[in-house]
Amino acid sequence: MGETKRRIDPLTPEQRRRTMSRVRSKDTKPEMRVRRLVHGMGYRYRLHRKDLPGNPDLVFVSRRKVIFVHGCFWHGHDCRAGRKRPKTHQEYWDRKLRRNRERDAENQAKLREMGWDAFIIWECEIKDEEALKQRLVDFLDSPAKEISHE
Ligand SMILES: [Zn+2]
Repeated sequence: MGETKRRIDPLTPEQRRRTMSRVRSKDTKPEMRVRRLVHGMGYRYRLHRKDLPGNPDLVFVSRRKVIFVHGCFWHGHDCRAGRKRPKTHQEYWDRKLRRNRERDAENQAKLREMGWDAFIIWECEIKDEEALKQRLVDFLDSPAKEISHE
């Protein structure tokens, strides 16, 4: 006897909604800071192009470059915040966050195939604004890849 089918998702919809909105609202702030920074440096970009894999946060069309601003928890960064897990439903979160990482990797591979350069900014890297600025310049001002149309 007993359960024959293990439930995949141990959270009630309400629990999940609460957990996710908590995580997501934390993730939007770093994105705003990066936008402001990049804009202040004189670069112009478009937001969230739906037609590109992974729906990148900032898109630099003529440079063929994109930036993702990733929350450390949500996207599984190898840092303290990224290794943290909620105390309950650990298996659920491990699986979910592993899937997120796999999806990120797939999207980046697809973008590369399409001739786009992708740059990931992690939430924990935003504090050091000077270092981040330098990395942004290095990324955005490096020559775009040659795209062969043969
Ligand atoms: Zn991090």
